[in-house]
Amino acid sequence: MSAATSTRPADATVGAVDTHCPYCALQCGMTLSPAGRASVRVRPRDPSAGGLCQKGWAAAALLGSPARLTTPLVRDGGTLRPASWDEAVGLVARRIKEITADRGPDAVAVFGGGGLTNEKAYLLGKFARVALGTSQVDYNGRFCMSSAAAAAHRAFGLDRGLPFPLTDLEGADAVLLAGANPAETMPPFLSHLRRAMDAGGLIVVDPRRTPTAERAALHLAPVPGTDLALALGIFHAAVADGRLDHGFVGDRTTGFDEAWRVAAAWWPERVERVTGVAAADQRRAAAILAEAASAYVLTARGTEQHSTGVDTVGAWINLALALGLPGRRGSGWGCLTGQGNGQGGREHGQKADQLPGYRRIDDPAARAHVAGVWGVEPSALPGPGRSAFELLDALGTPDGPSALLVFASNPVVSAPHSARVADRLAALDLLVVADIVLSETARAADVVLPITQWAEEDGTLTNLEGRVLLRRRALAPPPGVRTDLEVLHDLAVRLGQPPERFPADPETVFTELRAASEGGPADYSGVTWDRLRAGERLHWPVPAGPAFRRPGHQGTPRLFLDRFAHPDGRARFAAVDHKGPAEPPDEEFPLYAITGRVLQHYQSGAQTRRVEELRAAVPEAYVEVHPDTAERAGLRDGAAAAVVGRRGRVLATVRCVPSMRPDVVFLPFHFPGAQRANLVTNPALDPVSRMPEFKVCAVRLSPAGEREAQ
Ligand code: SF4
Repeated sequence: MSAATSTRPADATVGAVDTHCPYCALQCGMTLSPAGRASVRVRPRDPSAGGLCQKGWAAAALLGSPARLTTPLVRDGGTLRPASWDEAVGLVARRIKEITADRGPDAVAVFGGGGLTNEKAYLLGKFARVALGTSQVDYNGRFCMSSAAAAAHRAFGLDRGLPFPLTDLEGADAVLLAGANPAETMPPFLSHLRRAMDAGGLIVVDPRRTPTAERAALHLAPVPGTDLALALGIFHAAVADGRLDHGFVGDRTTGFDEAWRVAAAWWPERVERVTGVAAADQRRAAAILAEAASAYVLTARGTEQHSTGVDTVGAWINLALALGLPGRRGSGWGCLTGQGNGQGGREHGQKADQLPGYRRIDDPAARAHVAGVWGVEPSALPGPGRSAFELLDALGTPDGPSALLVFASNPVVSAPHSARVADRLAALDLLVVADIVLSETARAADVVLPITQWAEEDGTLTNLEGRVLLRRRALAPPPGVRTDLEVLHDLAVRLGQPPERFPADPETVFTELRAASEGGPADYSGVTWDRLRAGERLHWPVPAGPAFRRPGHQGTPRLFLDRFAHPDGRARFAAVDHKGPAEPPDEEFPLYAITGRVLQHYQSGAQTRRVEELRAAVPEAYVEVHPDTAERAGLRDGAAAAVVGRRGRVLATVRCVPSMRPDVVFLPFHFPGAQRANLVTNPALDPVSRMPEFKVCAVRLSPAGEREAQ
């Protein structure tokens, strides 16, 4: 049985289309207009909201790129050769059957991505649990959002990146950004912070003096890995200086006394000794937030990607709760989601411990509901599987999976301890990668499946404020490629599933997703594509009631205004303490390495490195370092350096930056091969979220030519 294929002509554009950017979670609106047979022209739909960043403007370049995959590839005698879809998918199905028969369903694993549409994320999770019967499914959003999500669940009983509309930030007099650099990662976002910037209310917490920090009235630059201590210090200062919102804390929260018992020991002068942030600046930060009529605390990856990420975000939430910010119109706490569908991607079942609607896979009621929608017995659904890094780390081991299917991810570049991950992939009996280009992970595959990209298919995404967006098709895909949904449909049928159980039409999949999410925390049952086509702004939850009988709910732009989502309606303080990074510097590795993004590139760079304008702007890896630190290592600006850690070495060109802390080097993580920042990053995991500690590890710096003992 072969897959449904596109019925649209392959060489015709379909007119001007209003849609959204393929990259980050801001999901800027854009209009695509025909520009010849194989491409479209981009223009921003809402210049008043900041327009587009350089990545968005250049997004169409990849549509007609010669780097595009247009035929399946099959490994044959060590090399990848073109194959028909029938041969490629037939081979995958046959090998899955053999491996499953030999070692059981958990021998086949699935790795998804936060860039997948809601429909794809949903069908991928269903494919894993029903067609494969495996518990071994997780996705790269584990590397992105999991600590903030876990902390939000703990504090509020529900996780949605921003529990308020993005535009609410425009009224803010004060905003604290912890570990966020939107001036480079999502520049249009800054347009929402103009008032706070003009009012002298922007506070940025970042070890680097980033372009965002340059715009701040107060830049707090803690020693890497000490954000939790800094949050405790500001919390302490707020309470000690009489800024606690007693009414809010008494009426709407629990757990303050336990949290304060820990924070009481973190007075600002003690915090200064640990973080390097002046006690006076901690007090000033508390004052700016407390005295503003409208204030927000926002976190992002810089403060979240730690082995203490959940507790660190919990400490920032404690600060927000102490000041009475969450659950009030015009103030709050929120998390800036990173990937395009980082929010929706974590709600619909591609995560190891979740089912659609943000349900827990170990909840009997959730299993019964979703199994009913899927037409299977609840007992047939597997339980929770391994988290992303633990899954990758187990590949090809005696107890781990021996086959892996990868969708929308490039873990050879993006996973921590990436040399170890590449070794594990090489140990597999079967690696299948679905992608638009021959990514570094696809190069290692046994079978590569060429798929459509953003402007060639319809689908929904959920942006960083929990709003469901329709990303629309503007261009026919090139001949030879299929959608991920078509691939999953074909594979499922070849594995013995009824065709109707795995529809390839995205709107049909969404209708099923609505039913599967109904009654769950992330309830999409009242969302329809027609409502989205009509331009309705729907933030989940959008309940519709049984069998969609009441589809008129207007959505929930602001969560928690009346009550938080815990059974008692109260938010919970967390009694969290500072622990420090898992791998502090020492004599052998005396520097902190931190990682991050640059304006022109996105995630592993698989897409943006293939866009000439973006590649030319930043063609290779570099290491930012203080000039004195470079000199001590025998390096100068422009020299080739090796950043050496316990797990490997990264080659990068030195950029001397006087504003860098002398004890820190910064590596962008978009580059492949020997320039992979993740060759040195530490896979130490947060005990709750299983988030790796991407943001701090110990390294030394040396000239690239010197042989280094590893
Ligand atoms: S900010 Fe994000 S969504 Fe907007 S254009 Fe840039 S990459 Fe695209």
